[in-house]
Amino acid sequence: MPLITLKVQIHADSQTEAILKDAMWCATKVYNGLLWHLRKEYEETVKVNISRKNLNRILKELPRAKGYYSMSVQLTRDEVREAYKSFFTLKKKGLVQHKAPGFRRKGYLSPLKYVQSGFKVEGDKVTLSLGTSRGDGVKQVSFRISHRPDIEYERVRELSIAYDKFSGRVEARLVVEVKACENSGAGKAAVDLGETILMACAFDDGSVILYSGRFIKCIRRYWQKVRANLKQNSRRWKQIAHRKKKQIEHLLHITTSHFIEECVRRGVKEIVIGNLNGIRENIDYGEQLNQRLHVWPYRKLINMLKYKGELAGILVLDNVDEGSTSITCHACGEIMASNRRHRGLYVCSCGWKAQADVNGALNIYERAYKVSPVKGSSGRVARPVAVSFLLGWHGVTEPKRKDKLLRTSA
Ligand SMILES: [Zn+2]
Repeated sequence: MPLITLKVQIHADSQTEAILKDAMWCATKVYNGLLWHLRKEYEETVKVNISRKNLNRILKELPRAKGYYSMSVQLTRDEVREAYKSFFTLKKKGLVQHKAPGFRRKGYLSPLKYVQSGFKVEGDKVTLSLGTSRGDGVKQVSFRISHRPDIEYERVRELSIAYDKFSGRVEARLVVEVKACENSGAGKAAVDLGETILMACAFDDGSVILYSGRFIKCIRRYWQKVRANLKQNSRRWKQIAHRKKKQIEHLLHITTSHFIEECVRRGVKEIVIGNLNGIRENIDYGEQLNQRLHVWPYRKLINMLKYKGELAGILVLDNVDEGSTSITCHACGEIMASNRRHRGLYVCSCGWKAQADVNGALNIYERAYKVSPVKGSSGRVARPVAVSFLLGWHGVTEPKRKDKLLRTSA
């Protein structure tokens, strides 16, 4: 059964919210306390023992762990173990220079992650266990979560409560099992991801839909300008970075939903996506950090296509080797980089002329399914029908200077 992650609003009275925040704050204390003791142990014995037994022993000495929130203390203990495990893995690969996982910032509200037990979701009502029967403190809290009418889920597998510093609210993240739709279609589609054209999507009938990438480009350019003028990691800098991310996410949602709806309408059962290598090659960004930021929207987009596809009963594959699909002529197969002309036109000496991303999408289709949607049995290549979209785009907007939005802790 497919799993998806939902972010939902919490509706809790102020008392419940205060309890949640307090538990999260205590979790940070416990987290840092455990780390501190583990580091000390390491200095003395040159060993790190992250067994539950040893951590429980340390916990007994921590003043915060004796409070009311024994359940969240357990959750935090497991998070420390996870942090150390991934630290060891990175260390083995030589990817970290640090001596140990880092401490959490003072005043940080740690997320409470419920993986197997300790929570109950009934309709929109959530009950969380913060403590066990020991002591007479807070044992359970309940609150309502906002309903997501677009997604029907069977069961909640995981639940985490996290503080969103931008909205200043406590939010819930649910990992839910969803029932996939019945899909009786047999159609196929191929997607080429790019910069100017975010997605070029080729269908069985030889038609191609192009989704403009202008919004990401504009937002990115604007962001670069901002970054040059503001101090890195300043309040304003972070505020604008957050807005930029939200804007891109919003537009990616509109685009992917439109495409998946179109696929359902056309009876598509499977979608292949060319890999991201092409995108990385085409962009001249020196720094590694920039590159990571650059690829982020595409990763996000692929994830959206995957889960939306899953909900619609469509299989989305993103491991197709794109190879040189962007510079290969779809009609005669010649591989020639210079055929990619300015303004995204692909012109080959054999007479084939197409928008470069249309050409790329058709090549990905042919590579994945061993048949071209535009080549007839006689060898004649039909001109693809391309439709272009720029959805939901209203330009770049700068967030208002509302400093209260950024207050980090209560
Ligand atoms: Zn050609």
